Amino acid sequence: MKRSLLISLSLSAILIFILVQVYLVHNIWEQKEEQLNFRYTALSREALASMMKRSGENGFEKSMTILDIFSDLIKQKELPNCKNSQDTLVLARQVMSEAGSIISKNETFTDYLKRYIGRQGYDTTFKTTIIVRKYEIFNSGIQQDAGEPEVKPGSTVFVNSFREERDNFVVEYDYLISLERRNTIVFREVFLSLSLILASIIIVLLVYWFTWRNLIEERRLSELKSDFINNMTHELKTPLSTITVAGRTLEMEQVSRNEEKVREMARMIGKQSIHLNQLINTILEVSLLEREQFSPDRKPVMIDELLHDISEAFTTSCNNEAVIKEDLQCGGNEVEADILYFTTMINNLLSNAVKYCDKEPVIELSSSIDARSVSIKITDNGIGIAREHISHVFDKFYRVPQGNIHKVKGLGLGLYYVKRIAEAHDGNVSVSSRPGKGTTFIINMPIK
Ligand code: ADP
Repeated sequence: MKRSLLISLSLSAILIFILVQVYLVHNIWEQKEEQLNFRYTALSREALASMMKRSGENGFEKSMTILDIFSDLIKQKELPNCKNSQDTLVLARQVMSEAGSIISKNETFTDYLKRYIGRQGYDTTFKTTIIVRKYEIFNSGIQQDAGEPEVKPGSTVFVNSFREERDNFVVEYDYLISLERRNTIVFREVFLSLSLILASIIIVLLVYWFTWRNLIEERRLSELKSDFINNMTHELKTPLSTITVAGRTLEMEQVSRNEEKVREMARMIGKQSIHLNQLINTILEVSLLEREQFSPDRKPVMIDELLHDISEAFTTSCNNEAVIKEDLQCGGNEVEADILYFTTMINNLLSNAVKYCDKEPVIELSSSIDARSVSIKITDNGIGIAREHISHVFDKFYRVPQGNIHKVKGLGLGLYYVKRIAEAHDGNVSVSSRPGKGTTFIINMPIK
């Protein structure tokens, strides 16, 4: 409950953080767009003033002269054809839009503006729009007033409003520009802030992910440790209680007089003491292998000979319960190995092959050699290891949790030792398995 609350809280915090960052980016973007509009309006007005100063006109002079002629023509030629006020209205609409295109086609301000803005080092790829708001031809009844134009904020930059009155007409129009590469320009300007915000989001997510992963790993380790303590207690208790019971039995008069019984009890005590001793040694070895400077006492050994001896001793120790098929191909080649640790390593793998087998164990022990290393392969016909556990089997205290944990005794240290010992011999160990079919362990060690 506490854990899930913590997760929801931290996830909400991250979500809020990301939303704030997105909101920030959005605001910065809008601000930059506004600044861009403002800059282009200011530049355009400067250009207009500069044009007026230089040539005494604003670049629309020619347009207005043509519009004046056009207005006169309308009055002379088109208007007489209008039979009623409806016809006049239709004509007024047509001439209003015609007026806009006459102004656009004949104005010279845009060229001047592009040169002016270009000289200042700003982008000159923009389109211009002229919107006629009011147009009236005197003494004709043609009069159109479109009111205020609808300018979409952000996309269009308003430059200026003009009003011109000539002999035949009066016109009011707005001059606007729209930047073709607006988004690219804004993006370039917000790039630094955008990258910083993105980096901060990535860092926060990474920190969260690492913390989360560490928490899970710590939890897994603590679970492993408590499993180990349970297993160890169980493992130690069994021989101890057998010894206690055997001791009590020996105290009984009818048993102590029976020589055969005494010998049996003594054998049992001896066997359980050896088992206890082995267990304690296994636990003590953890701290030895754990030490940084753990370095085995390596001597040149003939690998095949050693493997054969280990295999033979193992078969004898398990009363020929397991069949070991040897295929040793290293000939007389030697590796540098600490015989004691090397034997422990192979024994651990052989005894696992027997422990985790639900039929008669058949083990294949093979060795091969190439230019640089020897490879020792131990294949069994046991229960196998499921895919989700295979990457953990070499971890300290790790035991495959299902099925065999209660049936087969162990402390989850055997394969950890194998890995540590192989690495201490500058080698490595790998595993592959097919559940239900068997498992193969391969140890690679450099040759002498
Ligand atoms: P332990 O045998 O004490 O549990 P190990 O470190 O030797 O610890 O093995 C870790 C786990 O890997 C075991 O619990 C077992 O589930 C699995 N395992 C090891 N060897 C084999 C094998 N040959 N076949 C199937 N499972 C194996």
